[in-house]
Amino acid sequence: MNTVNNVLIVGGGIGGLCAAIALRRKGIAVELVELKTEWTVYGVGIIQQSNVVREMHRLGLLDAYLDAAFAFEDVAIYSTTGQQLVRIPGQRLAGPEYPANVGISRRALHKVLSETAIALGTQVHLGTSIDSFKQDEAGVDVLFSDGRQGRFDLLVGADGLFSKVRSLLFGDIYQPHFTGQSVWRYNFKRSGGLDHLANYQGPAGNAGLVPLADDLMYLFTTSHEPGNPWKEQAHLATELRERLAGFGGLIGELREQITDSAEVVYKPLEAVFIDEPWYRGRVLVIGDAAHATTPHLGQGAGMAIEDAVVLAEELTADGTLEAQLQRFMARRFERCKYISEMSLLAGAKEVERDPSFDRIGLVKQMLEVTARPI
Ligand SMILES: Cc1cc2nc3c(=O)[nH]c(=O)nc-3n(C[C@H](O)[C@H](O)[C@H](O)COP(=O)(O)OP(=O)(O)OC[C@H]3O[C@@H](n4cnc5c(N)ncnc54)[C@H](O)[C@@H]3O)c2cc1C
Repeated sequence: MNTVNNVLIVGGGIGGLCAAIALRRKGIAVELVELKTEWTVYGVGIIQQSNVVREMHRLGLLDAYLDAAFAFEDVAIYSTTGQQLVRIPGQRLAGPEYPANVGISRRALHKVLSETAIALGTQVHLGTSIDSFKQDEAGVDVLFSDGRQGRFDLLVGADGLFSKVRSLLFGDIYQPHFTGQSVWRYNFKRSGGLDHLANYQGPAGNAGLVPLADDLMYLFTTSHEPGNPWKEQAHLATELRERLAGFGGLIGELREQITDSAEVVYKPLEAVFIDEPWYRGRVLVIGDAAHATTPHLGQGAGMAIEDAVVLAEELTADGTLEAQLQRFMARRFERCKYISEMSLLAGAKEVERDPSFDRIGLVKQMLEVTARPI
């Protein structure tokens, strides 16, 4: 008999939805509360690398996911003048018939995940959070923000960077901190030749291009923003062009097409890491709630998705709940810590403009680490 038969997930983002899908596929009842009344996500894209494609396969989602995505193979690194420095071949971890990597719009990903979670029987309540919980040996009593009450075998906080579940569980020990950098993103019509993930790095800064669909790609760049200044939306196009001033190649060509400030997505980068087991008793946090990092290695969502898969596997394996959660931590902690720390390191080296930093070596090492089975 399972140790856990009904689970409450707080947060309907990538991690919460994948957890719902993974748990429902194991026959566990899932209720999910999501704070947003309109269940939308912002309209830029996300890179999902070969380890994520592998886990989408294990979640039984791969065909719908690939239909909504742009599949590609290689990752290339260019100088800021547009000269290719290295091209790293993709690893087909989901099987030889599936692509190595994927770029996907966040909205398309959300649609696939939310429709699948609901079709599998997840009970979703929008515009709802939890106010408090109280746990005992046998379960967790939850008071919802809409006044309802419920009792669950396990409460999973997948409520992101500013997780309420994390605060209720650990107090204010773990607070997100600004890393000193921000990221800027802008969608373009896909240039014909952009059939891979293209990273540009050098003295002018760091930027990249990600294919998302036959007719869509996005550009990103990171910048040092001491003091995390407030930005007026109306000035964002001008500011983004300024940040890209030193770039040549395709980035240089695209720079002059950045004219619509309303379409620039600007985000200061914040991070948090729970440096102890991510659970107490019957309450656990996963995804960004436990280990939000910067996007320098394109693996934040990947780690949330892996958390979800491993959680469902362990909850339906042998032993007590405590033993299952200990094994979950043993499989997740070092891997997520590595991604968290190396992403922060890459950002810090960009800020320092340290020419000796081996970014290509780090990317190759990350691909080797994340290819290992979870
Ligand atoms: C600029 C940027 C670029 C990125 N690019 C990539 C990339 O290319 N590849 C990659 O793998 N990762 C990337 N990431 C990281 C990735 O976006 C996150 O790691 C991922 O979204 C984490 O998923 P999550 O479900 O844990 O949290 P979230 O996606 O933040 O979802 C949390 C959900 O919980 C809800 N919520 C919040 N509070 C409550 C509450 N109190 N009650 C109920 N619901 C609540 C939110 O509304 C949201 O729906 C990037 C991150 C940033 C900032």
